[in-house]
Amino acid sequence: MAPGDCCTDSHADTAMPLHQALEQVLAVVEPVSEVEVLDIREALGRVLAEDVISAVDVPAHTNSAMDGYALAGSDLPKAGKCTLQLVGTAWAGRPLQARVEAGQCARIMTGAVMPAGTDTVVMQEHVERVDDGVVIDDRHRAGQHVRPAGEDVAAGAVGARAGIVIHPAMLGVLASLGVGRVSVLRRPRVAFFSTGDELVGIGETLKEGQIYDSNRYTLYGVLTRLGMDVMDLGVVPDDPDVLESVLMKASQQADAIVTTGGVSVGEADFVTQILEKVGQVNFWKVAMKPGRPFTFGRIGRACFFGLPGNPVSVMSTFYQLVQPALLAMTGARVEDPVIMLDARVTHRLKKKPGRREFQRGVLQRDAQGDYQVTGTRHQGAGVLSSMAAANCFIVLEEDRGAVEPGDMVKVQPFRGLV
Ligand code: AMP
Ligand code: MG
Repeated sequence: MAPGDCCTDSHADTAMPLHQALEQVLAVVEPVSEVEVLDIREALGRVLAEDVISAVDVPAHTNSAMDGYALAGSDLPKAGKCTLQLVGTAWAGRPLQARVEAGQCARIMTGAVMPAGTDTVVMQEHVERVDDGVVIDDRHRAGQHVRPAGEDVAAGAVGARAGIVIHPAMLGVLASLGVGRVSVLRRPRVAFFSTGDELVGIGETLKEGQIYDSNRYTLYGVLTRLGMDVMDLGVVPDDPDVLESVLMKASQQADAIVTTGGVSVGEADFVTQILEKVGQVNFWKVAMKPGRPFTFGRIGRACFFGLPGNPVSVMSTFYQLVQPALLAMTGARVEDPVIMLDARVTHRLKKKPGRREFQRGVLQRDAQGDYQVTGTRHQGAGVLSSMAAANCFIVLEEDRGAVEPGDMVKVQPFRGLV
């Protein structure tokens, strides 16, 4: 253990554990209820408002799962071989019109309707062709390689449940039911702005002490990816009157308001103060790093999330506290657990017991295919480039101290399969 690792993190003493903060947030958040009807492609990523009952069987007809020969299972030889007379071909989309009688078979393609009189398919690789027939041996089972009508979704069954997020596979399912338009919940409207007298916009020249506002861009990115209806309210100066009027305006138009900066206890930090005046503040200290302080409250019907100003803290608090709340607001039935992987640490990570830390890491596979993770060099809450260079959070539990090379840690990847 290196010097300095022995002590607990004094900030943590009076702070609320992250899981408790999240519980409190989720207890207050309400899902949107207004519905709109969209073409299914436009509904990608949206939450289905009503069950979709299938009007058709999918597949619509009992059909072949293989290229081969369709026959009656009762014609399969019990032992040895038999020859069946070939009477025609069934193509996908072009059914065979004739009935296949005992002692006969039909050539059949994958997806073709099973001809009348047949219930079994023998793969083309398993037969021997003779003049006007095929020779079949005793390796087969009656009913094999056939897909029954309605196997995927039966007519009258629920093809898609209310509350599901329409992901690519669900888009395909809806199409397979012949459904072109669906009712979805409207997207939560999220207003966001940055606070700080030091902030200037892109295109302006920086004067002494000024910085470009980056938080509004990361927030735009995460909110847009999350499928929110975003309202960018720009930069608001550290002026209580202006802040109050912007907050009031935002609360009338949005379901959620996300701000950055001004929630510390500095001289120019007015956000919590104003919230106490015009709404309710639920708490303002969370035992996470980076990320303290954090304000959660309400103004009218809108939920308010006051994130810290430091750009990395913005992202960690957003992902850990705001994102779950906004997802709950979408009305989606949350089924996907947060994905956490176990990875071996390549280099030492500094940490004091007390807060849950979200260090930035680069996750890779080692030569054996196992996950290994390396912390990005700068772990400062203001070093946004380290966040941009990372592909995961290294999640270090509250009671954990420094992590030595070779130790296992939990890792939360930034990217998932969508
Ligand atoms: P604050 O929480 O307002 O005290 O801000 C903490 C730190 O984050 C200060 O160094 C700010 O200059 C910086 N900061 C606040 N807002 C932004 C922003 N929108 N973009 C970049 N840095 C910011
Ligand atoms: Mg500030």
